[in-house]
Amino acid sequence: MINVANFMSIQFIEIVSIAAKFYLCLLYMSFYSASIKFHLMSATDLRELEWYLRDHLFRNLSHGKRKFEIQNLPEEMIKVYLRYRDSDVDKMSFMISQVLKQLSSKSVITQSQASLEVPGSLNRLQCSKCFYICYLSENEPKKCFRCFSAQLHSFPDKK
Ligand SMILES: [Zn+2]
Repeated sequence: MINVANFMSIQFIEIVSIAAKFYLCLLYMSFYSASIKFHLMSATDLRELEWYLRDHLFRNLSHGKRKFEIQNLPEEMIKVYLRYRDSDVDKMSFMISQVLKQLSSKSVITQSQASLEVPGSLNRLQCSKCFYICYLSENEPKKCFRCFSAQLHSFPDKK
């Protein structure tokens, strides 16, 4: 026979279990939406940011600067490029760290804890087929990033 106290405690356990399920559901949803955001970011935004970052490195190299403080890069990118004018510094910082990993693996940069260096030169090249402009290090194969054509010429054309 269930007395009143027992009945109350059973109700209490049920409420707690519903609350726990609700909490887990929220947790799952926030994780899921974060992973969707990350996925979208990795697909398009990172490729675009890589292009802008290479552009930034190229322009600085032409002024003799080859060493960069990693913590300054998000604010530099936001300041220099209209595309990133309204970007959040933390998000930029996270995205830049992802792009730097890619640039390191392609030997475009060498990276230490706080800084990065461009060891070689970066060349600004235009694809003769699709007219896309790429910034390629001498350590990378000479192929267009967009259409993979090997017909690249320096940009602007040196005559
Ligand atoms: Zn191309």
